[in-house]
Amino acid sequence: MAYEGLDFYHIDQMLSEEEILIRNAVREFVSGEVIPIIERHAREATFPSHLVLKLGELGVYGSTIKGYDCAGLNPVAYGLIMQELERGDSGIRSFASVQGGLCMYPIYTYGSDAQKQRWLPAMARGEKIGCFGLTEPDFGSNPGGMITRAEKKGDGWVLNGNKMWITNGGVADVAVVWAKTADGIRGFLVERGTPGYTTNDTHGKFSLRASVTSELHFADCHIPADAILPGAKGLKGPLSCLTQARYGIAWGAIGAAQACFDEALRYSKIRIQFDKPIASFQLVQAKLAWMATEITKAQLLALRLGRLKDAGESLPSQVSMAKMNNVKIALDIARMCRDILGANGITDEYQCGRHMANLESVITYEGTHDIHLLVIGEALTGIPAYA
Ligand SMILES: Cc1cc2nc3c(=O)[nH]c(=O)nc-3n(C[C@H](O)[C@H](O)[C@H](O)COP(=O)(O)OP(=O)(O)OC[C@H]3O[C@@H](n4cnc5c(N)ncnc54)[C@H](O)[C@@H]3O)c2cc1C
Repeated sequence: MAYEGLDFYHIDQMLSEEEILIRNAVREFVSGEVIPIIERHAREATFPSHLVLKLGELGVYGSTIKGYDCAGLNPVAYGLIMQELERGDSGIRSFASVQGGLCMYPIYTYGSDAQKQRWLPAMARGEKIGCFGLTEPDFGSNPGGMITRAEKKGDGWVLNGNKMWITNGGVADVAVVWAKTADGIRGFLVERGTPGYTTNDTHGKFSLRASVTSELHFADCHIPADAILPGAKGLKGPLSCLTQARYGIAWGAIGAAQACFDEALRYSKIRIQFDKPIASFQLVQAKLAWMATEITKAQLLALRLGRLKDAGESLPSQVSMAKMNNVKIALDIARMCRDILGANGITDEYQCGRHMANLESVITYEGTHDIHLLVIGEALTGIPAYA
């Protein structure tokens, strides 16, 4: 039976015809191109690179950007795309989020005309891949303490430092790298192959196995003067990119939760114990009811946030709340679905285990669950409690 997302509150009625068409096109793509191959890639810890150009044809990269061969969609349509991609796998959604929200967005928002012309159309088509280097071995939740330095030398810059846990790092043609300068934190576009710039992929992950995660190393790496993003000054540059990407994660997590719920609901109706389908037991129904309720609340949170964003009224703390809540409920739902599947739930013949493991990364990256609690706490009290 074809996958149909849960829509307990008839939320589709709150979407435009265009939004539904876009969502359904991505849903169909995921059913046809991602679901059949993703378990093998996760098992073998390989990135399905053959999907990169196809996703470009589908228009998922930088899809809210106007011009530069991008789709120019509204934030809700973008969110629905992220939801459907993550129904397939958080790694596929991460690839698209980083490409669009963390690379194309800063180039579009803070880049020069030449940088935009050079990178955006090629990235929209998936011909060029980007990564976003902010986190360092000793600076994760506190990126402002970063050690990576860029110093002016002659008519260019020299970069020194290390970035860690960088999605797409090993496959990226261009890295958006954040570094301290005499003038504060600035962003730079560093091209693959630049002498002094090397990458190492991170192995042994039990999470996001179908996604490339890498370290970036810069050792006396000379880059030209025009590698700097002229419009990004200070920590608010990278933080604004993270707000973009976190918005997509808030939607994406719903897709992972829906995939698990769909699987567990179907399973509960056909798995017979004590001569009855397990769906007929009250304790199983209580789990299904709780999950459907949490998915519905997450959908309403994401949709309202999307409409606020479309009106230019969304706040970073509202994005934090949606990212924090939706990833947490998705992780809890993945674990609960794994339980409903019994022993079968621990094999990769079923999706729940993969989603559960993936969501352990999603709850940590782009601001951990607890850091988002602190963002909301600061918005409520006016008192920052980070340090
Ligand atoms: C698969 C994967 C992909 C990633 N991709 C990228 C990427 O593309 N680009 C990039 O730049 N980064 C990326 N990251 C890094 C990610 O953003 C960081 O892991 C994240 O910011 C947390 O930093 P940390 O791992 O150093 O944890 P830490 O900051 O060391 O946190 C550890 C624990 O301490 C808690 N903690 C920290 N500070 C406080 C505080 N003030 N109050 C209370 N609790 C606190 C945290 O909530 C957490 O529970 C990725 C990470 C993963 C796992």
